[in-house]
Amino acid sequence: MKGYSTFSLIRNALSGHRFWKPVWRTPDLKKSYDVVIIGAGGHGLATAYYLARKHSLRNIAVLDKGDIGGGNTGRNTQITRSNYYWPQSAAFFDHSLQLYEHLSQELNFNVMLSQRGILNLAHSLHELEGIRRWANAIRINDIDAEFLTPGEVKKLVPLINLDCRFPVRGGFIQRRGGISRHDAVAWGYARAASACGVDIIQQCEVTGINIQSGRVTGVNTTRGTIGADRISIAVAGHTSHLAKMAGFRVPVTSMQLQAMVSEPIKPCLNTVVTSSVIHMYVSQSDRGELVFGGGADVYNSYAQRGGIPLLQENVAALVELLPAFSRLRVMRQWAGIVDITPDTTPIMGQTPVQNLYISGGWGTGGYKAIPAGGDTMAYTIANDQPHPLIEDFGLERFVTGALVDEGAASGVAH
Ligand SMILES: Cc1cc2nc3c(=O)[nH]c(=O)nc-3n(C[C@H](O)[C@H](O)[C@H](O)COP(=O)(O)OP(=O)(O)OC[C@H]3O[C@@H](n4cnc5c(N)ncnc54)[C@H](O)[C@@H]3O)c2cc1C
Repeated sequence: MKGYSTFSLIRNALSGHRFWKPVWRTPDLKKSYDVVIIGAGGHGLATAYYLARKHSLRNIAVLDKGDIGGGNTGRNTQITRSNYYWPQSAAFFDHSLQLYEHLSQELNFNVMLSQRGILNLAHSLHELEGIRRWANAIRINDIDAEFLTPGEVKKLVPLINLDCRFPVRGGFIQRRGGISRHDAVAWGYARAASACGVDIIQQCEVTGINIQSGRVTGVNTTRGTIGADRISIAVAGHTSHLAKMAGFRVPVTSMQLQAMVSEPIKPCLNTVVTSSVIHMYVSQSDRGELVFGGGADVYNSYAQRGGIPLLQENVAALVELLPAFSRLRVMRQWAGIVDITPDTTPIMGQTPVQNLYISGGWGTGGYKAIPAGGDTMAYTIANDQPHPLIEDFGLERFVTGALVDEGAASGVAH
């Protein structure tokens, strides 16, 4: 892989940027692969990259019905954190955050990680108690969490209205949390995977999964049938469709999650602010736009577009907490389809079909999990057994009842 460096930037600048090589290859589709990954979002691409780099598998294809990162990976609000409640989630998501901390160097691609902290607010004494319990659990899991008084919240976010309709009683912050650039994460993994020999095939929809004697043999696609020894599904809001093609069901609800950005303004918000009661979260991007959103839509949909009622709700919540933003204009609004599991923990690992693997049910929080999701799924596919970090995230938990209930640790309710 050609490395990016100051020298290459200067050289290409001096030659009018005419000689940059394409960031990833556009390969011809082969008849069969050792591993086919369905979905070129962050999870599919990261899985392919770690399979090639750590497990020496090279004959891999990532198929996408659209473009690289055009699903939820390119639609999310970029929040990266590991402030989860249960030890298994905390270990998994902190592994992800640690991988994020070195990802720009690992991929030689700037993912623009900004560890500006993520602040969770409490608006009543009861919520303060709940937040203390949550933050204590995080600290017991060896992850940073710090309580803040209302005065400390104000110091951190000078524009906040502490005396809003639901007055701010305090909060806690994970200082290692923050944001990174979602497109860069997809493109960085795509570039690194492609350089390892992975074939990324765009505009290639999987329409069927072929199974013989309980084991996968390949996929039917809009570009013909492709043989595969192992297949992994990483399609975010379409997990139930792909599972149906393989003859089993997954307990997910598919809903829209919307987000929006304001016009750009000068830097004025240097942390991510989250409130479950006021029901919004907001950060300021490096371009100066306020990126904000709330909970998922309350009905099932595959529409992938924003709607006025949620826009109104999110804007009302934003200006309640940060009234100075009332004079800004909203520039864009969009949605992605999220698959939400009953315990809001992802579904990762093996499936009832031999050599078919799944990484789904990411709900509203799978962006932060991309590095760890890729790393652990690559291990799972290479060894045909779950990586120790995801042993509790398998489909079988819905049979045994051993759920990992992370509902309370979701950024906002859904
Ligand atoms: C508005 C919004 C805000 C969010 N904010 C955050 C956040 O701040 N932090 C966070 O951690 N998470 C957030 N998320 C969730 C996060 O974006 C997702 O969990 C994550 O991106 C999932 O990645 P993925 O690779 O599994 O899926 P995707 O990026 O959606 O990729 C799946 C790919 O599969 C492809 N595909 C689907 N069906 C087929 C088929 N039949 N054949 C071939 N290809 C197919 C799609 O085209 C798509 O490119 C947010 C999501 C949304 C919608």
